[in-house]
Amino acid sequence: MCGFIGIVDEAGVAGQLSTGLQALQHRGQDSCGIFTYDGAHFPGHRGLGLVRDVFDRPVVERLQGKAGLGHVRYPTQGKGVLADSQPFFERRPGVIMAHNGNVTNYDELERGLAARSIHLVSRCDVEPILCIFADEVMNRRRVNHTADDVAAALRDTVRLVKGAYSVVFVMQVDGQPTLVAFRDPHGIRPLVMGRRGDAWCVTSESVSLDALGYSLVGELEAGEVGFFRAGQEPVRRMLEQREHTPCVFEAIYFSRPDSVERGETVYERRLSLGRRLAGEFASRGFSADRVIPVPDTSRPAAIAFAEELNLPCREGFIKNRYSGRTFIMGSQAGRESALRLKLNLIRSEFEGQRVVVIDDSIVRGSTIRRLLDLVWSQGPKEVHFAIHAPPVLNPCFYGIDMSTEAELAAPGYVGDAARVGGLSLEDQRAMEDRWAKDLGVDSLTFLSVDGLNSVFPGRRCAACFDGVYPMSVSEEHRLAIIRDRTACG
Ligand code: SF4
Repeated sequence: MCGFIGIVDEAGVAGQLSTGLQALQHRGQDSCGIFTYDGAHFPGHRGLGLVRDVFDRPVVERLQGKAGLGHVRYPTQGKGVLADSQPFFERRPGVIMAHNGNVTNYDELERGLAARSIHLVSRCDVEPILCIFADEVMNRRRVNHTADDVAAALRDTVRLVKGAYSVVFVMQVDGQPTLVAFRDPHGIRPLVMGRRGDAWCVTSESVSLDALGYSLVGELEAGEVGFFRAGQEPVRRMLEQREHTPCVFEAIYFSRPDSVERGETVYERRLSLGRRLAGEFASRGFSADRVIPVPDTSRPAAIAFAEELNLPCREGFIKNRYSGRTFIMGSQAGRESALRLKLNLIRSEFEGQRVVVIDDSIVRGSTIRRLLDLVWSQGPKEVHFAIHAPPVLNPCFYGIDMSTEAELAAPGYVGDAARVGGLSLEDQRAMEDRWAKDLGVDSLTFLSVDGLNSVFPGRRCAACFDGVYPMSVSEEHRLAIIRDRTACG
């Protein structure tokens, strides 16, 4: 998962890109980068770490230009080295590009490019997209590219590149520096656009528009491309459209609560998830004295859950916002200490109480076990766990960091129950009872797939929960992911 921002503004863009990237920092802390275009050159800088540490004033002031891109990276492929950080630059025709998503036929694309004597230098998914596009557009015209050339080259690119991707790039089009953005035919990863006076911005989440004073204008449609120039209305064209299936995990876990997604804040969505979860928890005959969120994602759901059941919602976990990496992970005591540095508990909120702890999801299952050890050490009378998403039963091939079944905890508790379409409610409740026993808690309740559907009506990707993938993934790619994950340890 990553975040990007692209801006075109006569007043210059580097300072805005650096500010906008900081609003997207939650989408990736591994590396970051900014490239700009001044009409002749593409100055840029990339570094490992946080935006505030990589981009100080002298670095930002060096990046002149009226159009540019910024990116924050969370590695889902490769080991997270500087060579994989974005944006990427291609000399011919002179283009900078960044993306969010996952290409599901990377090896096939790499072979196809090699056959055209084009060789990749990274394991980053944006590189084959960039190389294919650059080759396609240069095949149409060597200089003075038009919007028609670019749209035609992108149509061929989208036809070849399988997967989930939202992409931004900057190049000279129709003789002007132009910001271009496009989405894959299913529009799985987000892309919103905003305006401030004559300037335009496209980005992964609307929070970066808010930070920069841009008004949210809307989204590009699935499979659509937009051309943005300062002082002009955007030109929008359809490349290839299939059913729009945006990722529900964005609103459940990944996006900031203050981001707006298809007209609704992520905060409102999480309130709805919490309300629905409360009904399911109570319908199983469970009760508690207080509701405690695991910060920060689950807080809105916990508030709504508590309101629905007329219970107090209390802060039992306090997050340390300044804890960095810990280097004492070798022993059980060390792991507990590392978690405690990040998340401390308020004993009086647990001691002698029947608590229901709300969390957003359980993916690998390791965090919940460590968390529970800490909770039980505070002397609660009963511990219930309630999760505002269904169990994660299937890997994600579209850019969220859970791409192999082996790393998921839930499949181990399912047995032979069918997963496509989601577990039946009966199978899900039976699985929860088995898992609760294993964890040593009084109950465990996940949101049902029906509950999820009530909050996200219409078509969307929820494949990690219901097994219905909007597009198939080749066996070659599945094996490549497993190899990559194993290599990354
Ligand atoms: S599989 Fe899950 S995480 Fe991946 S895109 Fe679909 S909903 Fe999002």
